[in-house]
Amino acid sequence: MRRIVRSEAICLRVQDYHESSKLVTFFTLEHGKVSCLAKGARRLRSKFGAALDLFAQSRIIYYSHETRTLLTLSDAELVRSFSGLATEPERFLAAEQMSEFVLRVIQPQDPSPQLYQLLLNYLTTLESLQDPEAEESRTQGVKGSSGRPGTRILESSTPRPLPGALVCSFLLKAASFLGFRPELRRCLICRRPIESKRPAYFDPGRGGVICPRCAGDKPSGARLDSASLDTLSFLLYTPASEIASLSPQFLSPPSSLLPPLDLVLGFLGHHFDPLVLNSFRWHAGLERNI
Ligand SMILES: [Zn+2]
Repeated sequence: MRRIVRSEAICLRVQDYHESSKLVTFFTLEHGKVSCLAKGARRLRSKFGAALDLFAQSRIIYYSHETRTLLTLSDAELVRSFSGLATEPERFLAAEQMSEFVLRVIQPQDPSPQLYQLLLNYLTTLESLQDPEAEESRTQGVKGSSGRPGTRILESSTPRPLPGALVCSFLLKAASFLGFRPELRRCLICRRPIESKRPAYFDPGRGGVICPRCAGDKPSGARLDSASLDTLSFLLYTPASEIASLSPQFLSPPSSLLPPLDLVLGFLGHHFDPLVLNSFRWHAGLERNI
């Protein structure tokens, strides 16, 4: 017996399948991750059109069969193409890193509507980022401290830290929605708020920060200066649109975002299947040497 299923979906992966078809992995709003066979999708006049492009958001209809594991895509109506992401390599890479994470950490047919909305929101924000030249001219002469946490970090000689900051922010929030929100404001042991302007220790296994007093002489986590802690906190608790509206000079350049990103990846590595995480890092170009 076959069942017809309708859902809103984001296209996470597309592979050619035989001569005329495609195998498409969607992240659906109602049913989580599903893989569908799109028959005839490789033909020039395929009925699916741009709905099967990477990151495209569409309304899909598919059939599930009791006896077959592969689902059959019946229809896909494009809602939003996100084609603007392909016009700039850094934006595209950032979108790929986010979708790779989702692709690898969620299980088939396990709905996660919050994560779906998060991905959609971050893809929308990424696409809305201005072109590098526009960003540069917008921020010319706007250097110095904004006085708000996480935004005062460093002046950048590289004008494109925003896609990387959005990836870092997405990973922190996605992990939170999946049940692993890192504790960044209070010491995990004494529960006192971490004092500003003081370093702390980030223990990825325990899932958060430990104050210097509790860490003692032999701290178990990595030392985190207060600027990096501010950045992590800022990226976890600030809406994507607000991060995107920051002047790039107020955010760390990509090289300075790496310590927090590395910490985030270390944290994720403790809470998700290591094989899945390594595969995500490799596919998303987030190996340690970047
Ligand atoms: Zn403490």
